[in-house]
Amino acid sequence: NLTQRLAKVVKTMRGEARLTEANTAEMLREVRLALLEADVALPAVREFIANVKQKALGEEVIASLTPGQALVGVVQRELASLMGADLGPEASQLSFAQQPPAIILMAGLQGAGKTTTVGKLAKYLREQKKKKVLTVSADVYRPAAIAQLKSVTEQVGADFFPSLATDKPVDIALAALDYAKRHFHDVLIIDTAGRLGIDEAMMQEISAVHAAVKPIETLFVVDAMLGQDAINTAKAFSDALPLTGIVLTKLDGDARGGAALSVRHITGKPIKFAGVAEKLDGLEAFDATRMASRILGMGDILALVEEAKKGVDVAAAKNLADKIKVGGKFDLNDFKAQLGQMKKMGGMSGLMDKLPAQFQQAAGGANMDQAEKSVRRMEGMINSMTAQERAKPELIKASRKRRIATGAGVQVQEVNRMLSQFDQMQSMMKKLKGGGMMKMMRSMKG
Ligand code: GDP
Ligand code: MG
Repeated sequence: NLTQRLAKVVKTMRGEARLTEANTAEMLREVRLALLEADVALPAVREFIANVKQKALGEEVIASLTPGQALVGVVQRELASLMGADLGPEASQLSFAQQPPAIILMAGLQGAGKTTTVGKLAKYLREQKKKKVLTVSADVYRPAAIAQLKSVTEQVGADFFPSLATDKPVDIALAALDYAKRHFHDVLIIDTAGRLGIDEAMMQEISAVHAAVKPIETLFVVDAMLGQDAINTAKAFSDALPLTGIVLTKLDGDARGGAALSVRHITGKPIKFAGVAEKLDGLEAFDATRMASRILGMGDILALVEEAKKGVDVAAAKNLADKIKVGGKFDLNDFKAQLGQMKKMGGMSGLMDKLPAQFQQAAGGANMDQAEKSVRRMEGMINSMTAQERAKPELIKASRKRRIATGAGVQVQEVNRMLSQFDQMQSMMKKLKGGGMMKMMRSMKG
């Protein structure tokens, strides 16, 4: 498999002080293969490899790294940067800087997830940004599409502007805009029709809507499962419309990231959001670094670095360390937030799938059902605490423990056990903060 192939290459690359054409060629071939396996479009792969080569050649290999590790570092950085990691956190924000209403126009093929994403965005904008949101459907070809938008809009408690399948898309958009202005909506989201394939009439129609309402955001919605086929759709939409961002949907499937890279390559626009579930809370800010890891298979890369037994790739270790929140105080409020996060990612077993292979191996024998159950009990106990108790668990006295136990329906001993487990975890976090990351990763191996 890929890990073994790469590992072999890395071994043969030891003892060289500089990355050269010769010592990177074989490795780059493997990276190229990994990208093609992730269903990245060939032109995007070519450009990427050329970039990595240019950045890598001549780079000095830090004493503690093998050339292979140094190259992996360059590959990872380049990939994350291509996914938009260098654009900064603002890149995934929506713009509102305008006289309200801020108009968001949704574009994409039928089935891409536009209507669902309108519902998700409306929910996010209402709940997180406290915006008054109006939605409207300019999908006049399927009456069911209008009803679907009405339904998702009502589910998230936003306002819906009814449209008739007999109206023209441009007229619908203008009428909704007029309504939004008169009713002081902050945001108007316009859903549009999509065909199964790209066609000229569809492009002209959405261009006309764009010209009529001049949206501040024009979001191209694309199904991650399309893989490299996304490149043609992205090109057609990007040629027809001044896109401002991309929403990558269905990332909860087994998409390998080819679509993400291909679409970024073609449009150069930031991927602002990722759809990670059918449910209307299944929308996340896009995480470029995580996507880069997913494409190359962080599991494989880290295992490879372990294999070389010369320490850990610095970027990868930092990334991992950031994930488990190093460097700050870590209290039960954080823990609670993380448990929530974990649930969103599909519980313990879902989380395990996302961890690098070496961690999965380390936890090989663990019983996931059992773990899941004990996590739920922990959550029950944490939920029974006040915010202050969560912030300072060391202050929890016997009487409070009894109250927490009653609240969570467990024995006091279990509260004690949970608190001492948390205590251990906290000291582990402190060690990590003191730069013990590498030490810990090594110790986990054995
Ligand atoms: P539209 O034709 O572009 O408006 O697409 P829809 O919003 O109607 O979505 C098409 C299908 O994809 C529906 O069954 C949605 O539930 C599903 N869908 C949309 N986004 C996601 C997502 O992020 N994850 C998953 N699993 N399904 C999604
Ligand atoms: Mg739709």
